[in-house]
Amino acid sequence: MKLCIDNSRGGRGVFAGAPIRKGECIMAFNGRLIYSDELPEPYESVDDHYVQIGKDSYMGPSGGLDDFVNHSCDPNSGLVITNTRVELVAIRDIKSGEEITWDYSTTMYGDDWKMNCQCNSVYCRHVVGNFIDLPDEIRKKYIQLGVVPSYNL
Ligand SMILES: [Zn+2]
Repeated sequence: MKLCIDNSRGGRGVFAGAPIRKGECIMAFNGRLIYSDELPEPYESVDDHYVQIGKDSYMGPSGGLDDFVNHSCDPNSGLVITNTRVELVAIRDIKSGEEITWDYSTTMYGDDWKMNCQCNSVYCRHVVGNFIDLPDEIRKKYIQLGVVPSYNL
């Protein structure tokens, strides 16, 4: 099994069921395309699973594993967005049993929504917001890894 869901570690997450190599596509995100004026209000980060995929567009929940991939400030994967195709790709080798995470800020643009983060990484920024507000060196790292959508470049 390549991926599994685990509820036991204080919140739901997606975990590697086998080693995953850097550069491998982990999964596609398959939600419905919606526009920003269709987002739920108020927005609940626990129950609402929307990913920004354009300046004004989002991918809604799919009901699948892609809804449960958590944020980390020190992630092991990132989103590669080509038009409306959204794929989660490993940005380093991932061990079996490791939680799969990506940095939500990489896709966020012009969004007033902010999320508090307790990812426990030594790099934790504590608040997750727009890509443009990230420190320069973090922006550069994600751009080099190819996990920043064109509207954030
Ligand atoms: Zn964090």
